[in-house]
Amino acid sequence: MSITIKDLNKVYANGRHALKDINLDIPSGMFGLLGPNGAGKSTLMRILVALMEPTSGQVDVYGYDLKKHRKEIRGILGYLPQDFRFFAQYKTYEFLDYAARLSGMNNTKIRKRAVDDMLENVGLFDVRERYANKLSGGMKRRLGIAQALIHSPKVIIVDEPTTGLDPEERIRFRNLLSKVSGDDATIILSTHIVGDISSTCNRMALLNQGEVSFVGSPQDMLKHAEGKVWRIKILGDQLAEIDSKYPVIATIPSGTGWEVQVVADEIVGYDAELFAPNLEHAYVYYMENKLNLWTND
Ligand code: ADP
Repeated sequence: MSITIKDLNKVYANGRHALKDINLDIPSGMFGLLGPNGAGKSTLMRILVALMEPTSGQVDVYGYDLKKHRKEIRGILGYLPQDFRFFAQYKTYEFLDYAARLSGMNNTKIRKRAVDDMLENVGLFDVRERYANKLSGGMKRRLGIAQALIHSPKVIIVDEPTTGLDPEERIRFRNLLSKVSGDDATIILSTHIVGDISSTCNRMALLNQGEVSFVGSPQDMLKHAEGKVWRIKILGDQLAEIDSKYPVIATIPSGTGWEVQVVADEIVGYDAELFAPNLEHAYVYYMENKLNLWTND
């Protein structure tokens, strides 16, 4: 395993228990960490990149103990935080060179070459003389990826990469990430957008209210939703009633009424028809079930 997390807990100073007994084995490849806002994703990412200490638990990164080998771990790690910012006084290539120096690339010749190659790879070579804060939104994102990958890290941690990107940019971002990260790197992609995970990650974990509620492949998660996603035809005035009984995924106008799509183990009292779920449905199913379990506690 590239990364092993054992019994990890984080309790903030205000008493907020943001991570509860997290246990995860993360292999190389693209690993998706999916969860709604407030689930604890950023907290987990910040612990993994050694920016924050856990309250208890054990984290191993490529054989290094996070408590004892923070410096070594930082050396093999690239991090693209949620709110990545530049220093206004740097030109694009200067910024990347600065990031490379910070990651310990001391040999000027090797560094210069790596910077040029990376600029080429992320499509910023032609704008390398432009001040970083004058780049377009998409270019800034690419520079963010470039700074995280400049020292060929073994572990790449990307926090909510797609915030503020339109669907096309999201696809380009993911493709670029897999293209420039190398074959045997471990990439952890944290997101609340199901589509980010389904198209790129071979393994994933679902985080909800500080707990891991699922680990496996997106296909495994999908299986859980099979036979649980329904299409119900109703009249307009039944909408509120359905909404109060079942988690509604979509409401589509249909003739004089509506077609409502819901996730549920069974439907009682309505004319309902099963259909094939996608990962988004599975996600809703998982979240709802977990919430129901909590309600019964
Ligand atoms: P996510 O990244 O999934 O949105 P976070 O890790 O940011 O979730 O937050 C998890 C929980 O911890 C939330 O309830 C959030 O309000 C809380 N939290 C995050 N940072 C702090 C902090 N510095 N102090 C206290 N509570 C925090």
